[in-house]
Amino acid sequence: MKRVVKEAMGDCSTVEEFRFLVRCQECSGIWHSTPIRFSKAGAEPEPEGMRTIFRTLYEREREAAREMAAAEAAEIFNYCPVCGRLVCDRCFLICEDLDLCIACANKLRVRGRIVAGETSDAREPPAGADGKITTEGDGTI
Ligand SMILES: [Zn+2]
Ligand SMILES: [Zn+2]
Repeated sequence: MKRVVKEAMGDCSTVEEFRFLVRCQECSGIWHSTPIRFSKAGAEPEPEGMRTIFRTLYEREREAAREMAAAEAAEIFNYCPVCGRLVCDRCFLICEDLDLCIACANKLRVRGRIVAGETSDAREPPAGADGKITTEGDGTI
């Protein structure tokens, strides 16, 4: 699961911090990982040798941040076994036999319970209510 998420994950890291995003392939909601600050953010790498060291450090920290973001995203995103898409908790149903995304469940006429619906009985939780999924932005990386 984490591997699937990792492959689908976009990188929106800056020179200062590492951040990743995953887009739900059903509702297009974009989830951003918790930003992780680069340990040398703001530092002026002088001389040339330091710059190389910073760059290497940056790459290493970005990889670690990517791992963490993937673990974080794996809690929120689900892989639909039928259509093979990655969808958020709001678009994924726990069904009796096989858990499916909303689109597949509708198509196959399977009834289930929405994953994200467990904790609240609100009819239609607004996007971003939990501060994690937003539909803003075009997701360009
Ligand atoms: Zn969704
Ligand atoms: Zn599906």
